[in-house]
Amino acid sequence: MRRRVLLGAAAAGLGLTGFDLSVRDGVLNQCLGAMPAALRDDPRVRGVWQGLDAAKVWDTHIHVFGDGDSGSGLWFNPRMSRLRNPVEYLRRKIYINASCIDDRPGRIDSSFVEHLLAQCREMPRGFKAMLFAFDWARDEAGAPMQELSTYYAGDEHVAGLATQHPAHLEWVASVHPYDPRALDRLEAAAARGARAVKWLPTAQNIDPASPRCDPFYAKLAAWKLPLITHAGDEQAVVGFGEHLGNPLRLRRPLDAGVRIVVAHCASLGHGDEIEAKAGSGAKPSNFDLFVRLMDEPQYRQTLYGDISAVVQSNRVDVIPTLLARRDWQGRLLNGSDYPLPGVVPLIDLRKLAARGLLAADRVEPLLRLRHHNVLLFDFVLKRSLALNGQRFADEVFQTAPFFPR
Ligand SMILES: [Zn+2]
Repeated sequence: MRRRVLLGAAAAGLGLTGFDLSVRDGVLNQCLGAMPAALRDDPRVRGVWQGLDAAKVWDTHIHVFGDGDSGSGLWFNPRMSRLRNPVEYLRRKIYINASCIDDRPGRIDSSFVEHLLAQCREMPRGFKAMLFAFDWARDEAGAPMQELSTYYAGDEHVAGLATQHPAHLEWVASVHPYDPRALDRLEAAAARGARAVKWLPTAQNIDPASPRCDPFYAKLAAWKLPLITHAGDEQAVVGFGEHLGNPLRLRRPLDAGVRIVVAHCASLGHGDEIEAKAGSGAKPSNFDLFVRLMDEPQYRQTLYGDISAVVQSNRVDVIPTLLARRDWQGRLLNGSDYPLPGVVPLIDLRKLAARGLLAADRVEPLLRLRHHNVLLFDFVLKRSLALNGQRFADEVFQTAPFFPR
């Protein structure tokens, strides 16, 4: 009973209305630290590296957060630290647990990085994690709206992490296009080696279809910086309206020649037919809208999807299509959405097995792996998915060539 209450609260904490959560494998990440040798050497774990050049394997979707206790400028909305806001309080606790942060003052920022690096060191040499900065939600004039932001991770700090740990980390800037200094910030980020730019339109109040973004798109295209942008419903953070996540809004940057990576392949929610004549009223799934764009020949060189989070129970319906579309394999990029794969109830391994997407004998090592190394857990899981003998192609995991300097 207590468990059910906790889970209900946890679901609310993540804003997971309509989410499909399972507690049969527990609620919390046990954060057990380094893998025991038997698990590390289990062929079902080690074997997934076969056929891959680890130096090309970059996890393209990693969130960075902390509370600034190291002087990093990292920021959590203080609402989330107050018990009188139980939903947000719990949301923060869940993220902290999923990334095995030491939640004592003075340890939060540093323990996030230490634990992430420890996981990277358990991967074969050459593997890298791409860390996302996260800009403020901004108003129409481009001013930060702190109270409406869930968290903040500045370019400076995230770039610094990549500079300090070049063997394990790359970084992705987050520049809001409405910021009056956006183009200067973009240039600074490119100069500091940012591999891409990251947006979360529904949480940051960005309309990708707005003409005011055109100068921004022109710079991205000229500098060949990809834009990694969430599409589809985004329930994990405070939002400005799911309409901003409609994949069709990405036509504008695509038509400007920007390379676009659609996070999670737009795998949640439904979108309006904004291009249809008024009165259509149809609401296809956002994933179907993503599929439509992917199949348009003019975007073959510029539109990509990342498969982060598609293993979460509320998104798994898209996996069969992603596996079956062999013509797309070169346009899919693997990322974990770290730390979310560390939120135990979000990914139900037995459900994946029951749906024929995961061999039954893979479940047991994955159940253990999740409590030791969330990055590797997500990677082994994605490498193990199969339908009718078809797995994600090696190139989905060898993502580094997509991000040339
Ligand atoms: Zn994400």
